[in-house]
Amino acid sequence: MINNESVAATNMTTAFFCHEIFEAHDTGPGHPERPERLRAIKRVISSSTFDPLILREAPKSTLQQIAMVHDLDYAEKLMDLIPASGWSRIDPDTVMCPETGEATLRAVGAVIEAVDGVIAGAFDNAFCAVRPPGHHAEPEHGMGFCFFNNAAIAARHAQQAHGLERVAIVDFDVHHGNGTQAAFRGDSSVFFASSHQYPFYPGTGAIDEVGVGNIVNVPLEAGSGSKDFRDGWSSKIFPALEAFQPEFLVISAGFDAHARDPLASLNLEAEDFSWITRKLLEVSGNKLNGRIVSCLEGGYDLVGLGEGVDAHLSELMGFGH
Ligand SMILES: [Zn+2]
Repeated sequence: MINNESVAATNMTTAFFCHEIFEAHDTGPGHPERPERLRAIKRVISSSTFDPLILREAPKSTLQQIAMVHDLDYAEKLMDLIPASGWSRIDPDTVMCPETGEATLRAVGAVIEAVDGVIAGAFDNAFCAVRPPGHHAEPEHGMGFCFFNNAAIAARHAQQAHGLERVAIVDFDVHHGNGTQAAFRGDSSVFFASSHQYPFYPGTGAIDEVGVGNIVNVPLEAGSGSKDFRDGWSSKIFPALEAFQPEFLVISAGFDAHARDPLASLNLEAEDFSWITRKLLEVSGNKLNGRIVSCLEGGYDLVGLGEGVDAHLSELMGFGH
């Protein structure tokens, strides 16, 4: 099963996890984290370019699996808050409808099955087109459109179900992944790195937040573009990621650093999402046999999101543009 370092140079088999319930998670009128985001992604993969994708339906996770990262008490209380009709909210932006409970369980189920599939060799890597997103969800509470931390649970699952010792999570969403950092800031077995607009929501992600030496934050000023982004990853994150020598890589893939995004003020273009994905494949192809699971986080301009996912998936599949 263990291959050689040529994995990243060839076409990869890539799984695409989704489920119709992710479009039923309705956050209410005018909310940027909306079902149309997934429809934009589905339009992208309807191109024949993406015919080789292995399409998978996301299964439901259990609350016990979610408890690898979150307090079981929080998870149970959240399920009790799901409304029978209309909406309920855990903060002004983080909204639940009747279908949200199943969507959260299937979002976690997607990343868990993606990890299982990559480790079993059923496919080389996977992209999980899930809603709700996860990287703002801390172990004891959700926030910022997020309820359960899909990426963090994927990393823990790789450790606890498959015995991997060292797992890395990288996050190129425009917002800092405070939830992921909170889950692992005292745990040297998980590496977490993020580039993000700073200062900005959620307020964390300063350069001096380093955990136990396992966390790298690259804050970027509003208005930063391709050069600052690539310099930050090249000078700070990739060397630390390679030094960590992970056995598995989880990506928090947010596309809201795109120049068109209405929520933030970084100026990335589609080619930057190709670049970051290609570089991560180089690291993983050379060091960990290409074992990558990528989870959708943000991205609120439908054109920018579509371009970003197109670029990211193309690289994951090994043919780029
Ligand atoms: Zn974001």
